[in-house]
Amino acid sequence: MMEDAKRIAFGPVPSRRLGQSIGINNIPPKICTYSCIYCQLGRTHNMQVERKELYKPEEIIDSVKNKIKKARGKKESVDYLTFVPDGEPTLDINLGEEIEMLKAQGIKIAVITNSSLIGKKDVQDDLGKADWVSLKIDTVDQKIWHHINRPHGSLILQDILDGISEFSNSFTGDLVTETMLLHDVNDDAEGVRKVAEFIAGLSPAKSYISIPIRPPAEKWVTSASENEVNRGFHIFKEQGIEAEYLIGYEGNTFAFTGNLEEDLLSIMSVHPIREDGVKELLSKANESWSVIEKLLVQKKIIQTEYNDTKFFMRKLPSMPRGATEGEV
Ligand code: SF4
Repeated sequence: MMEDAKRIAFGPVPSRRLGQSIGINNIPPKICTYSCIYCQLGRTHNMQVERKELYKPEEIIDSVKNKIKKARGKKESVDYLTFVPDGEPTLDINLGEEIEMLKAQGIKIAVITNSSLIGKKDVQDDLGKADWVSLKIDTVDQKIWHHINRPHGSLILQDILDGISEFSNSFTGDLVTETMLLHDVNDDAEGVRKVAEFIAGLSPAKSYISIPIRPPAEKWVTSASENEVNRGFHIFKEQGIEAEYLIGYEGNTFAFTGNLEEDLLSIMSVHPIREDGVKELLSKANESWSVIEKLLVQKKIIQTEYNDTKFFMRKLPSMPRGATEGEV
């Protein structure tokens, strides 16, 4: 196996969205169609839009098989094989073939894409072979798109949005979306509403609202605040979208540990809880409001408001000058 191929597959890593996932880095760092201001890999110096062979499919398959074998040897489960490279996965012209080849492993396949090439029929066909696809939709506004995603000059936003809609109509797997909210860039209520309206038309299984949690390409980038993230969540909900946060905490709404504090933190990592909902949980557990006060004092949660209603949510992690899309 070549040196590079050894680095293609990594993990398994635990992921809230995908369980135990083996990551597949099918793009050499960092080739991308975008140069997002929040990218954790820094600016894109190698911008491309032409799909190419970047590794031989066999190299990718060998590397992944090797990882699966190792994981199984250690009795670790593998729930997903996830294309989540240091760049844009659909630039790999063999993506569809690789997905087909990997299916023999009997493990579900996921792809996390920035959606930029989805206007192309061959990209839609390739993504259509996966079981779970995450599409980046940070904005539907041309000016903001140029500001936040800094696309390759030949890309056209309307083609991407049309491609996303077309794909969502034909895709039979789990479609999810991911929207990164940045302070004073794309977190205004009107802009978020337009994104939510577009996403609602796709009927995704889930829509994730994320914030930067690792160092961003541009130092001036800051995450949307708790209030803005909470507002974004409610705007998505108003459109009937199954929204959740992706803010760097491995919360799991369904894993009740019996420890009220942990359970509250776990739920609040995924979405805010209304004041009356918090009271109900406390009364079920026979606990008093002091639990909430303690979490507020410890700055683990914060109180916020939307439409004159109080909500409690997880305090966002302070960004060590940072951002990501890469969490699987
Ligand atoms: S965040 Fe993703 S889409 Fe944006 S530049 Fe980085 S790798 Fe490309």
